[in-house]
Amino acid sequence: MAMDADAFAKARDEMGAESVARLHRVEAAIARAARDAGRDPDDVTLVAVSKTYDAPAIEPVLAAGHRVFGENYVQETKGKWPGLRAAYPDARVHLIGPLQSNKAREAVALFDAIQSLDRPSLAKALAKEIARAREEGARVPTLYVQVNTGEEPQKGGVVPGEADAFIAACREEHGLAIAGLMCIPPAEDPPSPHFALLAEIARRNGLSELSMGMSADFAAAIQMGATMVRVGSAIFGMRG
Ligand SMILES: *Cc1c(COP(=O)(O)O)cnc(C)c1O
Repeated sequence: MAMDADAFAKARDEMGAESVARLHRVEAAIARAARDAGRDPDDVTLVAVSKTYDAPAIEPVLAAGHRVFGENYVQETKGKWPGLRAAYPDARVHLIGPLQSNKAREAVALFDAIQSLDRPSLAKALAKEIARAREEGARVPTLYVQVNTGEEPQKGGVVPGEADAFIAACREEHGLAIAGLMCIPPAEDPPSPHFALLAEIARRNGLSELSMGMSADFAAAIQMGATMVRVGSAIFGMRG
């Protein structure tokens, strides 16, 4: 027999309460890591990575007051965020997964930030769609360049040796404002050297925002200067 509606709603409520409890623990850990590094906790933004979780699983975290979220896919975001945004108009959604150039228009319309800018063809496509959005008076996303610090072939991001030239091309050829950098270190490496490398590339390019650190390593990232950490499973639970 299928679970009845009351039991289902109760299980939902319990899952939501657990996510909110974990959110508060992550917030406390972020504040602790910032203070340990002599930094102001308010200088670190928590991006709650809600990929694979549906709208009813995300809603309790919004209701608890959290406003910045990360998603990996255009299609998934299109399905679940319009309703959540209607209820929470000040929610902000960042794209943290790879973006195909032919989805640039949809991405510009959907996201408040795009953290996966990593190649000239995408810079060109985003520049065109951002110009179009501006003409229409629409808000446009903040852009982050993704750097593949571990030079992993399966991962997105510009390789470190090409980062300076790519950032310059984004600015000069495509007229794009770049807010900062993002990286995803190789799972098998100690993350801190990758965070240090990202911070150095940002410094020499005059960029102040560093999106680095996930559930397993956000404290190390904060120590190395992260201004944004992207935390999924430590808030929403393990993805199925
Ligand atoms: C999934 C994902 C995260 C969150 O990962 P967790 O280990 O669940 O915290 C962060 N950043 C990116 C780019 C991701 O794809």
